Amino acid sequence: MRAVKVRKSIIKEKVKAADFNSMNLQFSCESCSFFKPSAGECNLGYNTKPHLYKNQTKLYEMSGHLTFCRFLEID
Ligand code: SF4
Repeated sequence: MRAVKVRKSIIKEKVKAADFNSMNLQFSCESCSFFKPSAGECNLGYNTKPHLYKNQTKLYEMSGHLTFCRFLEID
């Protein structure tokens, strides 16, 4: 029987510091049309925790990676 390889459920992508500092990257729920700020929730039902601004910036400062939500929508 072949072992099943378990994958991480969320992909962390490397972002160059120069790009992070010079580009106006939108990477957090707070920038997304589907975010409901009053409840801190996603209207599509996704887990916002890894995509919240404070968590994204903390992750970036510690690792140089961001977890981009594939459904982030900017108006
Ligand atoms: S779609 Fe993604 S980025 Fe937008 S609020 Fe939901 S979890 Fe956050």
